[in-house]
Formats: sequence, structure tokens, C-alpha cells
Amino acid sequence: MLENTQRTYTSAGDLETLDFNAESEYRMFPGKEITIAKGYSTIVESLASVLPAGMIQLGRKVTKIEWQPDDGENCDVTKPVKIHFCDGSIMYADHVIVTVSLGVLKQGIGDNTGMFSPPLPRFKTEAISRLGFGVVNKLFLQLSPNRDEAMKFPNLQMVFHQSDSKLRHPRIPWWMRRTASLCPIYGTSNVLLSWFAGEEALELESLSDEEIIDGFSTMISNLLENSRHANSAIKFDKVLKTQWGTDPLFLGSYSYVAVGSSGDDLDSMAEPLPKRSNHSFNSPPLQILFAGEATHRTHYSTTHGAYFSGLREANRLLQHYHYIDI
Ligand SMILES: Cc1cc2nc3c(=O)[nH]c(=O)nc-3n(C[C@H](O)[C@H](O)[C@H](O)COP(=O)(O)OP(=O)(O)OC[C@H]3O[C@@H](n4cnc5c(N)ncnc54)[C@H](O)[C@@H]3O)c2cc1C
Repeated sequence: MLENTQRTYTSAGDLETLDFNAESEYRMFPGKEITIAKGYSTIVESLASVLPAGMIQLGRKVTKIEWQPDDGENCDVTKPVKIHFCDGSIMYADHVIVTVSLGVLKQGIGDNTGMFSPPLPRFKTEAISRLGFGVVNKLFLQLSPNRDEAMKFPNLQMVFHQSDSKLRHPRIPWWMRRTASLCPIYGTSNVLLSWFAGEEALELESLSDEEIIDGFSTMISNLLENSRHANSAIKFDKVLKTQWGTDPLFLGSYSYVAVGSSGDDLDSMAEPLPKRSNHSFNSPPLQILFAGEATHRTHYSTTHGAYFSGLREANRLLQHYHYIDI
């Protein structure tokens, strides 16, 4: 159970791929965890409300970022970065702060897609390749209202046999067998939540609602077989699931320090480009900056890590122009 819980906390589908030493640099944020009742978007809306109207443009997927590395040749000094959007439009900029997920960056450094032109330098692509980025999905199941209201759904903590041979309940599908819990989202709620990680999380994304309901109904009836609730009809009538692994704007859920990587790779992720060498300073500085959870050495994988990294890069630009820190 602990292993499966840790798989969802870290997003390492296989804990053997997690570097425990490096993970020890991770810091929990102090204070209580809260659920934002009206949804996470309300936080973004509140942060964005102080910006001038029209400043945030949605639905404009970036397809390519052209920049001018410090290669000793003369470069344009104003607006050296050229950003291409999926609708064919172009924008010129002095600086761009890239906050796409590590999953999108991993795909973006692949040979065919070429998100950056010229491609990112080696220290950057190596950090992107070495760090881990797993898939974690949440599944919400709504209980059918016809069930016995007196029976409050319990917080189920689950452990299943994994081996193929001699499974105690062979009809319980493989993609459920590493799910650690099934719990109401609050005490008396009709909505249950389960977490999935790794290949089980990816499989969940490909299943139909009927297949998911069928899998959970089978599991519940098998578990209650010999209990006093054996005849109580526990039925599910609605399914809602996240699909972070296959969403092309995310391609996974959050980062972890994989075996072979280290906290230094998280720092490399945060390094702006072009990287300053000792000899030539021909191209304009700070053309591409990087923020997002995968650039924070101690709070990676979290929204506060993403937030702090945004402040860090905003401050970097303010200092560059000799403004004070925000
Ligand atoms: C199931 C689950 C549960 C979680 N629970 C918690 C929790 O309890 N607490 C916590 O702190 N964190 C939690 N997290 C982690 C948290 O959600 C992430 O760490 C955080 O959202 C990362 O923010 P980010 O800005 O770095 O990246 P993202 O949120 O991935 O944002 C990247 C943005 O880039 C955009 N984008 C991608 N490609 C392009 C492109 N080509 N052009 C333009 N835009 C593009 C995307 O649309 C997206 O808006 C959870 C994550 C998951 C999946």
C-alpha cells in the first residue's frame, strides 16, 4: 500500500526509477493542505485580474521558438526571439519565459518536433532527458443514488495480489491492482476518488466509462463476497477522470528526480539562455528563461514550486533592468 501511495505522490510509476538520495532535497511546504472549493482556475483568475485586459491570450499554442545563441557572430540586439504560433502568426520578443511541462520539453527536444531553433544546448537537453516525468491520474466515481443510504461508503485501503498465477480474485482487472485507496471525497459524499500512477494511469486514459465502472463493480463485489454487505447493491453511475498522460499540452503529470539525475539537473532546467561564457557576449542576454515546477530544486512537482519559479524569473528580468525585487 505504501509503495502504491508513493508511486502517486512522486509520479514514479516504478519506484526503482526514483533516486531516493536526491529526493531527500525535496521540501514539504509548511501548513495544511487545502482543496480549493471552486476549482484551481479561481486562483489563476485572481492572480490574472490585476493584469490589463487582453494581456493573456488563450488558445495560441506555440510551435517554435527561434533564438540567437552566443556563437560569436553579430546578432539582432532588439527583439531577438521569434515565437511561432499554431495559427501561423509570429511575435518578436526581447525575452520569453517558457513554462511548458517537462513532458512537453521532452517531446520538444526530440528530433522531429524541434520546438527550439537552434536546438537547446546540451546541458539543457541532458537535464530534460535525465529527469523523470510520470503520469498520475485521478478517477472520480459517483455512486448510484438508489443504494442503501444508511451505508456510508468506507475509506477503502486496498492491496491486491500482483502475480499472474493463483490470483485470489482473477476477475479484478490488472489496471486496478496497484490502486491504494477508494475514498469519498469528504465524509458523506457520493463521489469517490482513486489515484492511479504509471502504466495503470495510462491504461485508465484509454478505457471507456463502462469498462471502468465494470472493473470497480467487479472489485467491490469480490471484496464484499463474504461480508454482511454482500447483498447491498453498490452501483456506480458516473465517471470523471483526468488524462494528463495523453493531453498534448502536458504529456504527463509532474517531475521526479530519476535514477541518473540529481538536484543539479533541476538547477540546469532553471538556467536562462544564452548561457554566458567567459569569451563572447555578442548576443542579447536572457532570451529564453525557464519556469515551472520542473525548474525548482526543492519544491518541484507542486503548484507552489511552479509559482515560486515564476517569481524567480520575473525577478531575474527586474534585476536585469535594474528594477527592485518584487
Ligand atoms: C493528479 C494531480 C494531482 C496534483 N496534486 C497537487 C497538489 O495537491 N498540490 C500541489 O502543489 N500540486 C499538485 N499537483 C501538481 C501541480 O498540478 C503541478 O506541479 C503544476 O500544475 C505545475 O505547474 P506548471 O506551471 O509548472 O506546469 P503546467 O501546469 O503543466 O502548465 C504548463 C502550461 O503550458 C501550456 N502549454 C503546453 N504546451 C504549450 C505550447 N506549445 N504553447 C503554449 N502553451 C503550452 C499548457 O497548456 C499549460 O497551461 C498535482 C498534479 C496532478 C496531475
